[in-house]
Amino acid sequence: MRVPVRSQLVVGAEVPATRPWVFCPAQNRSVDCAECRNCPRLVSFPESVSEPGAYVECNAVEPTPLGAPQDRGQTAPIGALATPRVVCVDAELSVERLSAAFREWSGVELPVIDKGGRLVGTILRSDFVRARRPGDARPSFEQTHRVAERVSRATALHESASVQHAVRVLASQRARTLILVQDEYVVVGVLTDLELLLGMSRLRRQPPEGSTP
Ligand code: SF4
Repeated sequence: MRVPVRSQLVVGAEVPATRPWVFCPAQNRSVDCAECRNCPRLVSFPESVSEPGAYVECNAVEPTPLGAPQDRGQTAPIGALATPRVVCVDAELSVERLSAAFREWSGVELPVIDKGGRLVGTILRSDFVRARRPGDARPSFEQTHRVAERVSRATALHESASVQHAVRVLASQRARTLILVQDEYVVVGVLTDLELLLGMSRLRRQPPEGSTP
């Protein structure tokens, strides 16, 4: 099976980006590519993990899904659906550089992380724009110095949570973006509501590993 290589880009020089990783279907968690390289299940490793579309080929066997095979679109872990690259913002980043980050990256919501890569909150593009309007009572971005002063509460789930659970959480919190975290709240991905729905439908159509086409 093909397992996409994931990476993180951190806007702000103070936080080093994590090394490339994959969401291991056998272990149901993100693992460093170095660990993957030494795994006995590995079939082939990409020449360059930084190439867009890079993937690891391995003969991992996914844990048996709960319920009927067609339920996989609901029982699969959300980590399997995360996008190949997650763009995060260093909490200590200056507001001027955040402005440049939003111009460069298309996301409407970017996770904010501390020096350990742990989730601090999110920063919303709409908030950024709204704060610049005249008459807004809140302190503007121009009056704040660090991103950490303006973060919003994030909707976050562990990467091993099921798709079904993620859909419920997004609906109950009326959120549109889900931040995926590992243990200790280290950020490993972002999923919008649309990406989650598309992922669900892709998993439903995909035959289970090992089945004959
Ligand atoms: S090669 Fe091993 S560690 Fe890497 S994804 Fe496959 S089973 Fe997981």
